Amino acid sequence: MIRPILKYGDAILQERAQPVDKITPDIERIVDDMIETMYAAPGIGLAAPQVGVPLQIFTVDLSLGHDRDGLLVMINPTFVECDGMQLEEEGCLSLPGFEATVVRPSHVIVKGLDRNGVEYTREGTGLLARAFQHEMDHLEGTMFVDRLRGIKRDLIVRKIRKLARSGKW
Ligand SMILES: [Zn+2]
Repeated sequence: MIRPILKYGDAILQERAQPVDKITPDIERIVDDMIETMYAAPGIGLAAPQVGVPLQIFTVDLSLGHDRDGLLVMINPTFVECDGMQLEEEGCLSLPGFEATVVRPSHVIVKGLDRNGVEYTREGTGLLARAFQHEMDHLEGTMFVDRLRGIKRDLIVRKIRKLARSGKW
């Protein structure tokens, strides 16, 4: 089932997500819905809080579903390593229409559970490293605008407020 994606300003997006205790049928359904929602958007990554579920789950697929081997499901993820630096344009399904250059490490290793509850680690560089960090941020209640400073951040926040006032957000 495709779930509605919450937008910037929603309280759930600002909360820290809770760990998943056990892979239950409910969790499996949430994972399936997240994958379907991510592909439908389309987006290269989605975190559970974006569909209103405050749990530590994210999905990533840089191929947008063209190559199903590229699909990653991470439950209760943690960083094993983070280093380097990259500076690229970034967007978010919860911030439609907005993009900004965000500084991120260029290499990360993430450890978590797959959809069967089996632990695995995955290394990412470039765009994959960026996607991992972007989704991990969501699980901490942080969005990419929160990583911007000064004028760049104010500009986006002001535009969103204006859209919200006119009922377009
Ligand atoms: Zn996002």
